[in-house]
Amino acid sequence: MNDRRNRGISGASVLIFILVLFGALWFTNQMDQKENELNWNQFEKLIASGNIKNIDIIQNKDVPTGRVEIGTKNEISGEDETKYLFTSDVNEMQEYLKKKGIENYTMTNVPQDSWFADTLIPMLLVVAAVFVLFMFMNRQGGGANAKAMNFGKSRAKLSREGDNNVTFSKVAGLREEKEELEEIVDFLKSPKKYIQVGARIPKGVLLVGPPGTGKTLLAKAVAGEAGVPFFTISGSDFVEMFVGVGASRVRDLFEEAKRNAPCIIFIDEIDAVARRRGTGMGGGHDEREQTLNQLLVEMDGFGVNEGIIVMAATNRVDILDPAILRPGRFDRKVVVGRPDVQGREEILEVHAKGKPLSEEIDLKQIAQTTAGFTGADLENLLNEAAILAAKASRVFLIQEDIKKAFVKVGIGAEKKSRVISDKEKRITAFHEAGHAILFHVLPDVGPVYSVSIIPTGSAGGYTMPLPERDDMFDTKGKMLQDIVVSLGGRVAEEEVLDDITTGASQDIKQATDLAKSMVTKFGMSETVGLVNYDDDSDEVFIGRDLAHASRGYGEGVATVIDQEVKRIIDECYAKAKALIREYDSVLHACADLLLEKEKISREEFEDLFKTVDINEPDEMIRV
Ligand code: ADP
Ligand code: MG
Ligand code: ZN
Repeated sequence: MNDRRNRGISGASVLIFILVLFGALWFTNQMDQKENELNWNQFEKLIASGNIKNIDIIQNKDVPTGRVEIGTKNEISGEDETKYLFTSDVNEMQEYLKKKGIENYTMTNVPQDSWFADTLIPMLLVVAAVFVLFMFMNRQGGGANAKAMNFGKSRAKLSREGDNNVTFSKVAGLREEKEELEEIVDFLKSPKKYIQVGARIPKGVLLVGPPGTGKTLLAKAVAGEAGVPFFTISGSDFVEMFVGVGASRVRDLFEEAKRNAPCIIFIDEIDAVARRRGTGMGGGHDEREQTLNQLLVEMDGFGVNEGIIVMAATNRVDILDPAILRPGRFDRKVVVGRPDVQGREEILEVHAKGKPLSEEIDLKQIAQTTAGFTGADLENLLNEAAILAAKASRVFLIQEDIKKAFVKVGIGAEKKSRVISDKEKRITAFHEAGHAILFHVLPDVGPVYSVSIIPTGSAGGYTMPLPERDDMFDTKGKMLQDIVVSLGGRVAEEEVLDDITTGASQDIKQATDLAKSMVTKFGMSETVGLVNYDDDSDEVFIGRDLAHASRGYGEGVATVIDQEVKRIIDECYAKAKALIREYDSVLHACADLLLEKEKISREEFEDLFKTVDINEPDEMIRV
């Protein structure tokens, strides 16, 4: 990359150098001529001296002006030289020479060539130099591989039907994700069907998920399935450019897409351009904002059902500018998660094609031991194993290759691909089952959307409630239930293990924060009363706490607040404990199912409550 840029510089500089040299020579030549120019006095003297070999009068065409060239001998060196004199009237000159008795001169009439020599040539030189200079700057600004003249042209890669042979069959697992995208494919295939009945198809689909989970693959597969052109550009391509260039690239990209509709525009790593605006430290990033604004303008600009679907991928949905998610833009969000056991097995099957495996290799078993691996990790695993087999000059892969490859990729990729021990998995299963059951049985929270023990970054698993309802207020009852749910993970661990883990630290923090807000902000504690003791410090004012150490209230109040927070937590904990005990059989069934499948859906989870016998409650439990 660098090397190409350097060559660009040296090529351009050589050209500039040559031009400058050429120009300089031309000007020195002009200077020389100036030295030989005579004024009238010098001319008279020369004539008087008689040191003259020949005289030529060169008249400019159609005008009386002209140039008199006098061949003479240099008085010192004795060499021949030509002096000249400009005259405003050649006829006067002829008369003057006649008076001096000089008849022996020539008279020529030349076309007006001086304009060409005096003006056009230097002008051309300047233009050429500027041109070369511009090309040179352009090359630098446009990034290493920008072609010289396509300043601002979109660098989107276009792939058409035919050269994009990725279809859904190449995407293993991701069943729900593919189902969600099926509709987009169908629209691209036969837009008329949808337009006829006035259906509005989403303009933008945002694929969200950790790196390597198959977002790019999925987007390509949508284009491949529908058989439409696929334009792809990466958000990071926009960022390195001159101010304004990113925006013009976006414009070009959409224009190109409109000419090729129906088609798909895929913006990879959209977080690089679509970060929240106005949060940049030290004044923000103009270029990125302009690019993002242009993107929004373009997305608003093309009509519904014009046949362009913009897909984008990110693994940082949290930092995206909210404007991007507004209706009419990326109004569809598809979460692409890490694969569960079955998904991993299917991915392994896809990538094992063309790699002969020995009998002993059991893909199911590999799938079971690779919790947390993404599709890219698994592809990498099999590839490493194949390399090891080739190194050993075998024509098929053996279990040993997989084992070795496992160590290689497992250690190389940090925690995310850390191999999860069975014990850790079991703890996580009970922990998440605990949260999930409480979500389900408490009236104001939940229902559970999915429960997973697939490791994600720092968390061992997650329990996802259905998207929050848009309640205007949180009630005291709901907040208490939220605290109960948070504590459910730890409670479940306690129930089945003789020890507890650090896995609940985040839950405990969340519960504490909530309880504290109830006491100091929402006036929900009778003992503390309706007084705001919350210092309202937003993150903007980090450091304010340090600067003003005073809390605005005394030790006595602080103690009461602490006591109240503890009382709330303790009561919620007791409730969580009682509920988990009541649903002990569901807890075990749920944990078992999680261990088997790693991720369970709402239906699978809710079925447990129907099929499993539930203990009679010891007492009435109310929250
Ligand atoms: P992302 O864009 O989410 O970072 P990619 O789509 O680039 O991930 O995936 C990288 C590679 O991992 C793919 O080229 C493919 O080989 C493999 N891969 C990822 N997910 C899957 C999947 N679901 N099925 C098959 N291969 C996958
Ligand atoms: Mg990608
Ligand atoms: Zn938890």
